[in-house]
Order: sequence, then structure tokens, then C-alpha cells
Amino acid sequence: GEINMVVTRFAPSPTGFLHIGGLRTALYNYLWARRNGGKFKLRIEDTDQSRNSAEATKAILEAFDWVGMNYDGDAVYQSDRFELYKQYIQQLLDEDKAYYCYMTKEELDALREEQMARKERPRYDGRYRDFKGTPPAGVDPVVRIKAPLDGEIVFEDGIKGTITIKADEVDDFIIARSDGTPTYNFVVAIDDALMGMTDVIRGDDHLYNTPKQIIVYEALGFKLPRFYHVPMILGEGGKKLSKRDGAADVMDYKRMGYLPEALLNFLVRLGWSHGDQEIFSMEEMLEHFDPCDINASASQYNPDKLLWLNSHY
Ligand code: GLU
Repeated sequence: GEINMVVTRFAPSPTGFLHIGGLRTALYNYLWARRNGGKFKLRIEDTDQSRNSAEATKAILEAFDWVGMNYDGDAVYQSDRFELYKQYIQQLLDEDKAYYCYMTKEELDALREEQMARKERPRYDGRYRDFKGTPPAGVDPVVRIKAPLDGEIVFEDGIKGTITIKADEVDDFIIARSDGTPTYNFVVAIDDALMGMTDVIRGDDHLYNTPKQIIVYEALGFKLPRFYHVPMILGEGGKKLSKRDGAADVMDYKRMGYLPEALLNFLVRLGWSHGDQEIFSMEEMLEHFDPCDINASASQYNPDKLLWLNSHY
């Protein structure tokens, strides 16, 4: 029969320090792969040259090192893979699953204004989808993928249950910008498929990227992984966790003298439980962790709990 090895990944965008929310996501992926004797991979999503830096990548690797989370194989850098992405863009153009769109920014803005005046959702209207004429001169086109025109995109999220999006809500989105660079949802789907992901555990800020990525998977004939979208960690007053709440940078916890074991224990419990057990050794996490048991609602950051846990190590 088919060997169903679990393959997971952590895919940070190196824009700054490693946030503890990111470390929690990484930990969940790590545990799920290791629990199943599978593979845990690291992919650095550094395609945005204006926001990404080598120092940020270094900070992420340092934080991984400090907590002792090892990944399999070499880290994959998206910035090394532009040629590969280009080949897939060309493939979709050749198969008529994607097309050049010559709409200018001014035309898009004008369309958007008209739609908003009519109280409609601003969207691309598909005007170049079946275009066979002579392209307008002097416009560097973008490439758009043909999204389904009707029906629904449905997927089973391991945490949130069935997610259904009407095809009507997903436009023919851009997969290559006018300078030829590929877009985020396109490259993520390609990399996850080529790197053999079976399970994608990530923040629920990506929930509505998933239908777009599914369109890419289907256009390229790739097998879909299972998806798990993890609710975020909330700080004081239900707001997004930030420096205000004490710390957000993983390495701050090192500087403050916390033990990595305590931090991992703290993070695994922020959003996941196994009965009322609070203290988990790495062995116990590996024995019990299942992403399907992650809470569907956001969890609250509680620094006193971390202090308490730290005193047990
Ligand atoms: N690079 C994305 C981020 O840092 C994560 C993408 C993903 O996990 O699919 O938010």
C-alpha cells in the first residue's frame, strides 16, 4: 500500500525577529511530523526583497537553535527558486489555464471606483480572460490564473471544519506581476506540493489564502495537503500579541532567563490541551500532540503561566 509519511513545514517570512506566535506554529508542525516519524522542513519565504533581510533569517535560525528544534534537510529559500516558478507560470499559460492581462493600474482603479459607486465588491472583471486580439502597446502584462467561474471551493480544515467559499468570491488572481515576479499564493502552493507536504499547519490569517492556493494546486495537478489554521495568540485586551505584553521576540525569553523547555511547554498549551495536564516534557508532547485537537478559538497570552512553568524545569 501507499506509505503515508507525514511531512510538515514552517515557512516564515524573514521580516524581523521570530515572534512567539511563529514559534508556536513551528512547534505544532515539528511535533506532528516527529510524532509520526515524518519530516519537518524549513522554508524561508524571502521573495519580497524590500521587506526581507539576511539578519532576520539569521534570527530565525538562532531561535530554532536555542529551543533545539531541528529540521530535516537544508532550509529552502524561495529566492533561489524564481526560475522554477517561472516554468510553472509558462506551463499554465501554455495550457490556457492562465493568461496575460494588460489592464493598467489606472484602468483597474477606475473599474474599482465604478464598482464601489454601484456598491459592488471591487474585483477584476475578467476582461482579458478570453482575449485573443492584439495586446495594447506599452503595457507590461501581469499573468492571471483562471479561477473557477461557478460552484464552490470547499476544503476540510482540521481545526475549523468545512470551509466553503463561493467561486464568485475569488477573482482571476495575479500569479506573476508585470515585472515577471511570482506572487505569494502561487509560490506557496508550488513549494508545498514539490516539498511533499501532507499537512500544513499555519496561522488563521492565511485561511482565505487557502482557496487561492487550492486553485493553483488543481491547475497544476498537485495533490492537496491537509490544512489546519491555528487561531492567533491574543495579548492584553484581546488585541494582537505585541511587545506591550512583555515580549514577542523568542530571543527575549532567552535574555530574560527562561528555559527553552518551559517556553515550548507554554506555547504548546496556548491553544492545545490534553485533559488538564499543564506540564509536558518533549516526550509527552510527542506522545499526545494532534493538530485536530487545537482550539478553534484564540488563546490568551498569560505571562504568569510561563513564570510558573519555568519554575518546574
Ligand atoms: N510566510 C508566511 C508567514 O510568515 C507563512 C505562509 C504559510 O505558512 O503558508 O506568514
